Amino acid sequence: MTNQDYTDINQLLATPKKIVIVSHKNPDGDAIGSSLALFHYLTKTNHQATVVLPNDYPEFLKWIPGQDLILKYESQKEDSDQKLAEADIIFTLDFNAFHRAGDMETVLNNSTALKIMIDHHQQPDDYAKYTYSDVSMSSTCEMVYNFIKNLNGLDHIDSNTATAIYVGIMTDTGSFRFRSTTSATHRAIADLIDKGADNTMIHNQVYDTNSYNRLQLLGCALSNLKIVPESRAAYITLSQKELQQFDYKKGDTEGFVNYALSLNNVVLAAIFIEDLQQGIIKISLRSKGDFSVNEMSRSHFHGGGHTNAAGGKSDVNLEQTIEKFISILPQYNTALHES
Ligand code: 5GP
Ligand code: MN
Repeated sequence: MTNQDYTDINQLLATPKKIVIVSHKNPDGDAIGSSLALFHYLTKTNHQATVVLPNDYPEFLKWIPGQDLILKYESQKEDSDQKLAEADIIFTLDFNAFHRAGDMETVLNNSTALKIMIDHHQQPDDYAKYTYSDVSMSSTCEMVYNFIKNLNGLDHIDSNTATAIYVGIMTDTGSFRFRSTTSATHRAIADLIDKGADNTMIHNQVYDTNSYNRLQLLGCALSNLKIVPESRAAYITLSQKELQQFDYKKGDTEGFVNYALSLNNVVLAAIFIEDLQQGIIKISLRSKGDFSVNEMSRSHFHGGGHTNAAGGKSDVNLEQTIEKFISILPQYNTALHES
């Protein structure tokens, strides 16, 4: 985005607009945080803003200020379609291809509203009038902070906006530890704390709300952990039966894959989660160093993401998915040993 783009957007936002903010399917902390942050900012600057997300999200994110006003396309299709149809502007946050918005794909494709994309994933599609895409960014939330800064709007960031931005930066950086965390990230965080983000409260809300069942499920996942030493890889499986045994709730498996990645001498980690309802195996991939799980997921698992964190799926059963994973590892051995 150029300075001229920001001047143009400021001009566009000089009069009240109807604005819809959308994000990706199975929204995470960054998707919800960035959407709500922009929602608070736009509402405060006299626009009529609505957040529409494709589907539901985990309990540990159901406290962020404004979240009760989010429309979920899955269960509130009529209201969502109306807001989308009336929108002058649609912001698409934390994704860059309409198919990532689940059932909203068609309506986004057909919409004539002016689109603005803010996103940090690789290979953005070319659907937006204004595209702020930067794969080096820690999170879409950090980009929303920069976006507001470039609109000269930092003074409009209140404690609600600050809290929402903080959540997404925190969750997408593994609490400020991933390589993408820069001094600029920390400067933004410092400013957000000054503007009213309560860091201790936010960490507690997101990370300290385990149920007993979730910890038991983690125990099960860890006992299923396998290592493939010759490929410096490790993986975890969870069957639908195991999920049921521990009364699985959305979000319960969040972060499990990181235990596999934390192993000494492991640079590639995967978790395979059976979803009989959708008839797929949901896959999360993580890596250390230069090894690109985005490439691996795009090539073999119908997905994508970032260099060190990607998601995907498989249409064959759990056992066959593991077989496939193990069978493709040798072709990556050199890269895995250099990573
Ligand atoms: P997770 O493993 O936590 O579901 O996802 C890790 C990262 O990969 C996130 O940034 C997420 O947006 C991205 N991602 C997850 N699933 C998919 C997918 O099916 N397609 C693409 N392109 N990205 C995905
Ligand atoms: Mn993100």
